[in-house]
Amino acid sequence: MYIAIEGIDTAGKSTQINAVSQNFPNAIVTKEPGATDIGKEIREMVLSARAQSKKAEFLLFLADRAEHIKEVIEPNIQNKMIISDRSAVSGVAYALIQGEIDKKDLIELNHFATNRVYPQKVFLLRLTKEALEFRLSKKKLDGIELRGSEYLLKIQDAIVEATKLLGLELIEIDATLTRDEITSKILDNINRESTN
Ligand code: C5P
Repeated sequence: MYIAIEGIDTAGKSTQINAVSQNFPNAIVTKEPGATDIGKEIREMVLSARAQSKKAEFLLFLADRAEHIKEVIEPNIQNKMIISDRSAVSGVAYALIQGEIDKKDLIELNHFATNRVYPQKVFLLRLTKEALEFRLSKKKLDGIELRGSEYLLKIQDAIVEATKLLGLELIEIDATLTRDEITSKILDNINRESTN
């Protein structure tokens, strides 16, 4: 099985990925961008924000995704529990906000890069504006500067739209619940599927 955990910065993706993976002896924890050798180099390129063209940036993310699907997802999807920190959903969501590429092209290009291999379930850890602003203010005190709440909330909405455009199953979870409650909700959903 292949699932993706999506959410904006401070939503708690890493904590949940770690907690959920403890429940599967055959878990593979992976991420986009940067899970493969080439992906690590691409991640450095895209996160240093050197690309002048938004299209170039989008294509770099896509190249990372194509490699990730070929190297990590396809060989393991039948026998392992793949838990991915972000997926094509993030790629489409960020590009939707940038608004430079047609929606239709965004989706077609992702189909091309992934061979239509997508997460069977997309979990969105959803934050309210208030909770997000509180978390951002705490990070600021720690000296970590993140993007503003307005931008991040737009990304959160775009994650929902991207999941729909890609035709994937979205499970929204309140990211302000306790760590254990969130983990249980994710596990319940996964297990419900596999026992049906
Ligand atoms: O979650 P992670 O630390 O891997 O993401 C690093 C940064 O890359 C995030 O803050 C996110 O804003 C950005 N990102 C992006 N486009 C994507 C995926 C991530 O701009 N497709």
